[in-house]
Amino acid sequence: MEKIECVVIGAGVVGLAVARALALQGREVMVLEAADAIGTGTSSRNSEVIHAGIYYPQGSLKALLCVQGRAMLYDYCAARGVGHSRCGKLLVATSDEQVAQLQGIIKKAAANGVHDLVLMSREQAQTMEPALQCVAAVHSPSTGIVDSHALMLAYQGDLENAGGLVVLNSPLAQAHCAPGAITLVAGDGTELQARWVVNSAGLQAQPLARRFDGLPAQAVPPSYYAKGNYFTLAGRSPFSRLIYPVPEAAGLGVHLTIDLGGQAKFGPDVQWVESADDLVVDPARGDAFYAEVRKYWPDLKDGALLPGYAGMRPKIQSPDEPAKDFMIQGPAVHGVAGLVNLFGIESPGLTSSLAIGSLVSQMLVEA
Ligand SMILES: Cc1cc2nc3c(=O)[nH]c(=O)nc-3n(C[C@H](O)[C@H](O)[C@H](O)COP(=O)(O)OP(=O)(O)OC[C@H]3O[C@@H](n4cnc5c(N)ncnc54)[C@H](O)[C@@H]3O)c2cc1C
Repeated sequence: MEKIECVVIGAGVVGLAVARALALQGREVMVLEAADAIGTGTSSRNSEVIHAGIYYPQGSLKALLCVQGRAMLYDYCAARGVGHSRCGKLLVATSDEQVAQLQGIIKKAAANGVHDLVLMSREQAQTMEPALQCVAAVHSPSTGIVDSHALMLAYQGDLENAGGLVVLNSPLAQAHCAPGAITLVAGDGTELQARWVVNSAGLQAQPLARRFDGLPAQAVPPSYYAKGNYFTLAGRSPFSRLIYPVPEAAGLGVHLTIDLGGQAKFGPDVQWVESADDLVVDPARGDAFYAEVRKYWPDLKDGALLPGYAGMRPKIQSPDEPAKDFMIQGPAVHGVAGLVNLFGIESPGLTSSLAIGSLVSQMLVEA
């Protein structure tokens, strides 16, 4: 049986970042990817926003890894020529009650080490974005956008230059954990032995973890799916910055993002669904988008929103439970030598990817 030092399951932005970090440490790394290309999962169905790190609870992995990952990502994109823009965002209050929420958000951000938010009057915000309607706004200058596909290709390039490998069309079917090595069995029955395995299978991370013999069942959290639908705007974007309402319970509200080509889209909303594969956008959901968007952009014309795409948030809490943190589990938590599971890597996973890579590679050094 072939033996290898580290195997990462899943070639999404997080799996690739982890594999890259391990390869740059001088380790032998193989990425097994079920699909026929990298980045076809959640990593190609998101907003491509480089988040500042504003909303997450102080001390959470989401807060720490987002702030650290954002800085790493801007440096990386600049050094590697990955398309990105530090376009900034306006977080808008559209009622007097929401102005108090903006103050709370500024405090929360400061606790996370984000000190560059600026509270603005309606007039100041409208000077930046004349089409905007609001009572007040917060400007976040360190929020931006990134070409996530170019980013994943750059991570893959670094991995391969350091001697690592991505193997496509290779779904992991099951694994047997024993002291000193984990035996991996691919869908076609091929076996491979690894000293370290990182389960970065995104929406499939929990079902896959349940197929690791020897991993205690209670270590695997339940899976819930919160679909995020997008509608694209026909015609030119009236805004040059990202525009966000104050956040809701399970998502960040129906916000406007622009891509590097200047195309605007609205979303994602939050629709709890039963299946991770439920990715078709129901055009009827557009009605709610018009209502939400017109709170901050009253000039939105009827018929201007077209159903776009949807992404699926890999939630580890039910709709009634409070938001949970990223769950990055090593042997100290679950007791299985050589295994790291990544569960619930929803937003800000793209922004945090380099920081997650660093954290996981450090876990292997310390083990
Ligand atoms: C609607 C939405 C909007 C978002 N917006 C943002 C944003 O603006 N900014 C931000 O920072 N984050 C955002 N995120 C979060 C971000 O997209 C994710 O955190 C990130 O893409 C997760 O990457 P991943 O590599 O963990 O998972 P994925 O991209 O899902 O990759 C997992 C990979 O594992 C593979 N796989 C699964 N099972 C197996 C198996 N058995 N064997 C081998 N391979 C397997 C899959 O094929 C897939 O390629 C958003 C998420 C959603 C849903």
